Amino acid sequence: MVDLKTQYDHIHTEIQEAFQEILDTSQFVNGQVVKRFTANLSEYLGGAHVIPCANGTDAIQIALMALDLKPGDEVITTPFTFVATAEVIALLQLKPVFVDVDPDTFVLNPDKLGEVLTDRSRVIIPVHLFGQAAPMEPIMEFASANDLFVIEDNAQAIGAAYTFSDGRQEMLGTIGHIGTTSFFPSKNLGAYGDAGAIFSRDESLATKMRSVVNHGMNQQYQYERIGVNSRLDSFQAAVLDIKLRKLDTYNKARREAAEYYSSKLEGVDGVICPKTADYSTHVFHQYTLRLTSADRDGVRAALGEAGIPSGVYYPKPLHLHAPYQAYGYQEGDFPVSEQLSREVLSLPMHSELTPEVQDYIISVLLKNL
Ligand SMILES: *Cc1c(COP(=O)(O)O)cnc(C)c1O
Repeated sequence: MVDLKTQYDHIHTEIQEAFQEILDTSQFVNGQVVKRFTANLSEYLGGAHVIPCANGTDAIQIALMALDLKPGDEVITTPFTFVATAEVIALLQLKPVFVDVDPDTFVLNPDKLGEVLTDRSRVIIPVHLFGQAAPMEPIMEFASANDLFVIEDNAQAIGAAYTFSDGRQEMLGTIGHIGTTSFFPSKNLGAYGDAGAIFSRDESLATKMRSVVNHGMNQQYQYERIGVNSRLDSFQAAVLDIKLRKLDTYNKARREAAEYYSSKLEGVDGVICPKTADYSTHVFHQYTLRLTSADRDGVRAALGEAGIPSGVYYPKPLHLHAPYQAYGYQEGDFPVSEQLSREVLSLPMHSELTPEVQDYIISVLLKNL
């Protein structure tokens, strides 16, 4: 699904020099490299505070921990996402409250927010799924009208920009009160191990989160809250700093590969190509088709026999998994997410795809629909 080896081959000298420098200085944690990457990412994101951490799941947990919520407070999110989003809500004794997604863009449908609002609602976590932004403008308006926090789960769309109706542009992850991301190797900005980060334009939230990631410490061995241990190490920061400079190029390559797929697949019977909402750029973390009539398992098996990987993200929406059904959910509650789970198929997508490889993938797919 991704080709990290070819990508590495293009940058291996820079990576090896950076790794050697870390070995020579022995600054493995909280060293200069981590500070440099943090500052560069902050600048890339238009000046938002950046707090590095150990992974994208921690990032969401830490964001929630900084909001001083009470057990049973409700956090609204989508059931059509990676489990991490809902998992940390439940882990913190908060209540995950799902709303269905838009069938064209696969992201949280803001028209549904009013249906789940209660006097315990505190937070909305929209997920910018597959590289496509959730509609942040209506979500922020709803949040502001109802006194809710917004945490953007931006694990899949770093580098995408959002355009508001007044023409103002913001980087995804810096629009909500807090934004989170993952630098898992296969993400658009991927480390060579686990890594993550949290963003905020709010100075006091940023200060709280810096304390949460470091055991709740404010001064040396003084603890003001319950925290966690979640750090970015120097080797990962070095990789990320090198790849950050190329992120826009990588995302452009993904966008071009997506356009190429769509130019050959648009209009094919039983295939719906991914759409780009008019309010944002799409950075195609995944290129995800809907197969409305084909036998998806059969198509996947045929692709696999031809040496082509494919993915189903996600084969079952979260509300149908046992730990989340415990909150009273059942089949039929979120029909769009349920239908998408039956229809979606993701094709290989990364910064190193060539038209020749894509032609092969497309020809095998078309023969087996
Ligand atoms: C990858 C991902 C996460 C979790 O990130 P990790 O670094 O694997 O912990 C959270 N949310 C979404 C939407 C993701 O895709």
